[in-house]
Amino acid sequence: MQRENNYWQTLTKESSLSQAELLKELVDEAEAVVIGIGAGMSAAAGFTYVGKRFTDAFPDFISKYRFFDMLQASLFEYEDVQEYWAFQSRFSLLNFFDQPVGQAYIDLREMLTAKNYHIITTNADNAFYAAKYDMDKVFRIQGEYGLWQCVNHCHQQTYQDEALIREMVEKQIHMKVPKELVPYCPECGAPLEVNKRTVEKGMVEDAHFHEQKNRYEQFLHENNGKKVLFLEIGIGHTTPQLIKHPFQQMTEENEKALFVTMNQKDYFIPQSIRPRTIRLDEDIAEVLHTATGK
Ligand SMILES: [Zn+2]
Repeated sequence: MQRENNYWQTLTKESSLSQAELLKELVDEAEAVVIGIGAGMSAAAGFTYVGKRFTDAFPDFISKYRFFDMLQASLFEYEDVQEYWAFQSRFSLLNFFDQPVGQAYIDLREMLTAKNYHIITTNADNAFYAAKYDMDKVFRIQGEYGLWQCVNHCHQQTYQDEALIREMVEKQIHMKVPKELVPYCPECGAPLEVNKRTVEKGMVEDAHFHEQKNRYEQFLHENNGKKVLFLEIGIGHTTPQLIKHPFQQMTEENEKALFVTMNQKDYFIPQSIRPRTIRLDEDIAEVLHTATGK
């Protein structure tokens, strides 16, 4: 491919490098790295929503509702709040409170050591905490599985009660938690639900969310016009308005920026940024692991 961009020295030797070497050199060369992380990254780290990890954890729910994956199951409208919490309590232990550390996340963190970087993620699991990231550099735009919000979004505050989640898992019978364990909003009395965004209602965004958002926007502002590497990892097309499209837009607006997408699927790239786009289509976990040089 003919490159029009003269800012990135690495691009001149692109064809002779492996994908891991190329990624490492681009990260080294960048003055700032903005990393967008989607579900494909957690899947690469082993936290898949399909297969054995799903069928082992939810055989009863799969048998009742014929779910084909954990995402569908987590978005399902359950018949009542007791069944909702029977599912969600087990889901949040698996994907948050008891989630082990993922190697791909450790590798990424090591690759970014000493770099000027910031992360934005649609993942609501515990992977960044487990891999000991500096959480001041991570913007979790889609909430967290460990947090709750009022179903009516009547006030902008989130709640967390790990002990209650564990009690729900322990005491549920036939896919129902006992009535007295269901959590309710202290302001309006409506049930609480897991902190997540929907197209219809958006999401409860508390003070902590706005702090994260401000830090992210500040980083973008401070590095505006520099050699910025926009690196998206495992981002599909469920919510392109959150990371994919802004990354492409910012690449277009900054002539020194480069857009790198790590994805085995080949998504549409706007014509205007194609000369400054690189797609790494090999296995995410392997590329990151090799790039850290171990
Ligand atoms: Zn409320």
